[in-house]
Amino acid sequence: MFALLPEESFTWGDFGVDNELILPKLFREATESCGVCGGVAAGLPMAYLAGFALYALQHRGQESAGLVVGDGSGGKLWLKRGMGLVSEVFPVMAELRDRPGNLAVGHVRYSYGEKKAHPENAEPLLFRYRHGELAVVHNGRLLNGGALREELQAEGAIFQTDTDSELLAHLIARQGNPDLAGALQAVVPRLEGAFSFILTDGKKVYGLRDRHGFRPLSLAGLSGKGFFLASETCAFDTIGAEYIRDLAPGELVILTGEGMESRQLLKPGRPSLCVFEYIYFARPDSNLQGINVHLVRRELGRRLAREHPAPADLVTGVPDSSIAAASSYAEESGLPYEMALVKNRYIGRTFIRPTQQMREEGVDLKLNVVRKIVEGKRVVIVDDSVVRGTTSMKLVRMMRRAGAREVHMRISSPPVIATCHYGIDIPTAKELISHGRTPAAVAGLLGVDSIGFLSEKGMIDAIGLSPEQLCRACFSGVDQYAPA
Ligand code: SF4
Repeated sequence: MFALLPEESFTWGDFGVDNELILPKLFREATESCGVCGGVAAGLPMAYLAGFALYALQHRGQESAGLVVGDGSGGKLWLKRGMGLVSEVFPVMAELRDRPGNLAVGHVRYSYGEKKAHPENAEPLLFRYRHGELAVVHNGRLLNGGALREELQAEGAIFQTDTDSELLAHLIARQGNPDLAGALQAVVPRLEGAFSFILTDGKKVYGLRDRHGFRPLSLAGLSGKGFFLASETCAFDTIGAEYIRDLAPGELVILTGEGMESRQLLKPGRPSLCVFEYIYFARPDSNLQGINVHLVRRELGRRLAREHPAPADLVTGVPDSSIAAASSYAEESGLPYEMALVKNRYIGRTFIRPTQQMREEGVDLKLNVVRKIVEGKRVVIVDDSVVRGTTSMKLVRMMRRAGAREVHMRISSPPVIATCHYGIDIPTAKELISHGRTPAAVAGLLGVDSIGFLSEKGMIDAIGLSPEQLCRACFSGVDQYAPA
């Protein structure tokens, strides 16, 4: 019915790399699964702007990056995608600056679960079907993706990727409606789960959010010349776009050079923005639902200090996402904040990991302890979350090896006790250190003198949204939408 188009220029980079060697997995125990952007504007270099937006969204996925660019006529779209960071896929930004086109859609990817870092999964995906070309990018995860895929395969569909973007493209192509908005109206109600899609048919850009709004997607204006969509508002600041609003759950927006149209495509369900976006995924300079992420993290730290004070000499945070909470924890406790942990920011994606023996001997490339600060001291380590606990265990060992007299762990979120079905790579329940364990048992495993997790109420109050507006299933273990 349609074919996945080859790229004009395809830079797979070092795609033979073992998934485990990719940098973000070493820094994170729960990981994000993509950033999307796209827009239309008359007289602006959209490829260039979307390229800069991808740089701003890089923290949401480092496995691959890509862009499609068009002139708004519905003619042939230009595609470039590849494995690696934005700077590796687009090493010469002048190439994007000089690329004509008033429409662009971009993606940075983090794959999860069995969907390993395969080059064919890099997005945007670009298809040719009977109504022209179609490009799709996606953030999230369809709960019924497996069932839909099986159904389509039984009808003869051939899939070339593991992505939900390809699944949506198949559904659109089979629907047969030459009007893409009409096709989306017909097929999107079949999708269950978490998704923020951006699509283009080369004439317009379409942005779509699932009925619960699990994954963020925001809209901005481009100096009266057009509109831009992005997973996070930090991308708007980078390109000088003016934030308008977040898309509503279930909303479809259709962007053209002339204006923007909004349709409520899906009956909105209970709003369920992923609470982990505030705790850890989103950039501190982004606003979600109009609430600044950095300020939320500061408030998480203050509430943590009130709920779980610690008998200590100093407070330190795990770089980078815990620094805001750690510094406010220190302020609220009246304890000094010290930069006792230093992160190496220059480890390449493909560096060779130390051997097991080296690791046991304390060789660590990403974090180091400032011995002179912690020697003989009672230290509070503030971290944003504990998932498997392997990173925390390592940190505690490093602190003790550096001479800390006591180590107290304080976590600015509740214990993670359940996995995520909505596109965040959280291990299975049995791999979670807090699953089926009391905080005291977790403290014993981590080897800390004490541990304190922020309560669910404290977390929700720090954000300022009502509990009914947030997904927190991995903390509460109550997941009303998950498959049985
Ligand atoms: S289960 Fe947790 S990680 Fe997954 S969407 Fe909900 S809050 Fe986010």
